[in-house]
Amino acid sequence: MEILFDETFTPRDQAKVDIEDRGYQFGDGIYEVIRVYGGKMFCLEPHLQRLQRSTSEIRLQLPYSLERLKQLLQELVQNNHLTDGNVYLQVSRGTAPRNHKFPENTRPMVVAYTMEAPRPVKMLDEGIHTITDPDIRWLRCDIKSLNLLGAVMSKQKAADRGCEEAILHRDGRVTEGSSTNVFLVKDGTLITHPADHLILHGITRQVVLELAAELNWPVEERAASIEELFRADEVFITSTTTEVTPVISIDGRTVSDGKPGPMTRRLQKAFAERIGVGSLQ
Ligand code: PLP
Repeated sequence: MEILFDETFTPRDQAKVDIEDRGYQFGDGIYEVIRVYGGKMFCLEPHLQRLQRSTSEIRLQLPYSLERLKQLLQELVQNNHLTDGNVYLQVSRGTAPRNHKFPENTRPMVVAYTMEAPRPVKMLDEGIHTITDPDIRWLRCDIKSLNLLGAVMSKQKAADRGCEEAILHRDGRVTEGSSTNVFLVKDGTLITHPADHLILHGITRQVVLELAAELNWPVEERAASIEELFRADEVFITSTTTEVTPVISIDGRTVSDGKPGPMTRRLQKAFAERIGVGSLQ
């Protein structure tokens, strides 16, 4: 397998990151995960736009143009013969003697690689179990930063309880999942946290909002309370890798009757059409 390393392709075992890479030492960088369906990157443009926004928010200049990066990612997918899987891409502020402030004249480090991954059809079909957890992350969750310790801690807590995701809440309000956005359905209305500094502006979240608009469904972008979460008719999470996944329990309490709800099912169908596959399979 080849890795995109700066601007060239290298075998994986030859790609080495320095011990003073700022991504490694400070989490000083950003990343993207892009889904590949049938050999084609899904929603590539929005991912690149978000990448650009993340880099500009942390005052990091990409070492080459976004257009060049796009071309290199396409080559990477082709070179690795990836049909169904993910592209992981990260950009760190580069390598420099350890010092918190930005280094001068340091070239940011681009690394990207691919991994094969089938669609998570079992989870999509059956739904997942979740826990709630206080959102202890920083106040710029809109930046797709390499600092994922808060998310890692929450996800592990969920795993320790035999669950797949942690639904985070701040001041009694649902923000998002540890690596997903969260949607509630109540009386036919979709409710999800507004795209502000407290959540990642998920690409899949945006696709779902577009699909909801096409279906003429009412949507409220607002922070729902924890009580509303427990009283919701349906709950689902979204992300690049989990698509539209039904949540069937939260803290051991079933969501409605414990089965994926009809609006979640309808969105899954619309999503499958959007990515060009007929159904969950
Ligand atoms: N929220 C968080 C905290 C995430 O880490 C992710 C994805 O990794 C998402 C939401 C979903 O974003 P996307 O749909 O762009 O994958």
